[in-house]
Amino acid sequence: MLADIKSQTAEELQAQFRLWQQPAYRLWQLLEWLYAHRSTSWDAMTNLPKALRGQLRTHYSLGALELLRKQGSRDTTQKFLWRLKDHSLIESVLIPASPSLYGEPSDRHTLCVSTQVGCAYGCRFCASGLEGFKRNLRVEEIVEQVLAVERWNAQESSRSQVESSKPDATQPATGNSQPATDHRLISNLVIMGMGEPLANYDNLLKALKILNAPWGAGIGARKITLSTSGLAPQIRKLADEPLQFRLAISLHGATDVVRDRIMPVNRKYPLRELVAACDYYQHKQGRMITFEYILIAGVNDGLEQAGPLAALARRLSAKVNLIPYNTVQGLPWERPSEQAQEAFLKALQKQKVTVTLRREKGHDIDAACGQLRLRTEREMVA
Ligand code: SAH
Ligand code: SF4
Repeated sequence: MLADIKSQTAEELQAQFRLWQQPAYRLWQLLEWLYAHRSTSWDAMTNLPKALRGQLRTHYSLGALELLRKQGSRDTTQKFLWRLKDHSLIESVLIPASPSLYGEPSDRHTLCVSTQVGCAYGCRFCASGLEGFKRNLRVEEIVEQVLAVERWNAQESSRSQVESSKPDATQPATGNSQPATDHRLISNLVIMGMGEPLANYDNLLKALKILNAPWGAGIGARKITLSTSGLAPQIRKLADEPLQFRLAISLHGATDVVRDRIMPVNRKYPLRELVAACDYYQHKQGRMITFEYILIAGVNDGLEQAGPLAALARRLSAKVNLIPYNTVQGLPWERPSEQAQEAFLKALQKQKVTVTLRREKGHDIDAACGQLRLRTEREMVA
């Protein structure tokens, strides 16, 4: 199988171009086709000599994600279901930074990307782990999630511009000289889609290098948040990387008893080990860690959890994100009442913890990880 061109760093491609005795500027032309124009065919790369395009074609594949289904509308949370070459399904979720409160469409978007097909970690509450683990995503499949969403956005923008006869004031500004297709929609990434990111460490890190690079998608490392269920050794490894990403820990329980019950990973890396790894990460990277804490009725929302949670948060100077649980078809768990959510929030605030309660965007479109895929797969067998 050929390596995909979007799995290659500029350095790797440069080495190949040297072997082909191509001048350096050809490489920059190629990268512009790939990451600024998001081209999906070699033939589109008209300023590259035909012979070079032929060489590229025989050395590399040029894959793109196929959009199978999309939910949500522009300027709200939108969910993309992609079909991969082997017919596996993965999801990405596009979240506007500030929904159009004053009728101004937001131009800053966060994309939530997947890193695996399924997940091996089997957290009891999560749709992604329900049907087990299929495989790791390849580098280009992670990179393409960003490019494919931006490609889709560019097509939508040009379609609505053609459709309206008058100048369209509702479209995001694309800059003066940039063609609409080159407009960058996504400024932030959260690695919180399907899969456990740190279990696909090498592919993810290479993909993030490409997405971060100025010649790639140009997304700042500080605008990239990785979420993990708590793989302590990989957290330490990440701490030693030169690129500084934000780290979110899916805590969901402040004691081993609660965590053991809902997250099997805790038996392997119990809280003591997880917290020590977070300490190390903070010490090496000097970055604030976030604790994700989904509130599940009767499981982890008791006020007796607030004390240990506050202690952990204070110890690591971590911020806490409370997220009301999204029900998953076929699973017994439920989100607590709004009163119970507020009470938990207040208990943490009282203990001087920096905490937010997320009023879920996209609850209505299965925005939690793995849910659209699960539903689609069930519909396909039905
Ligand atoms: N595997 C990684 C990243 C993907 S999950 C991790 O676990 O951190 C992204 C986040 O969604 C995690 O915090 C996860 O616990 C949470 N999540 C999973 N199922 C959910 C649901 N049904 N409702 C709300 N959050 C959920
Ligand atoms: Fe996997 Fe994260 Fe879901 Fe747990 S919460 S099963 S680690 S995707």
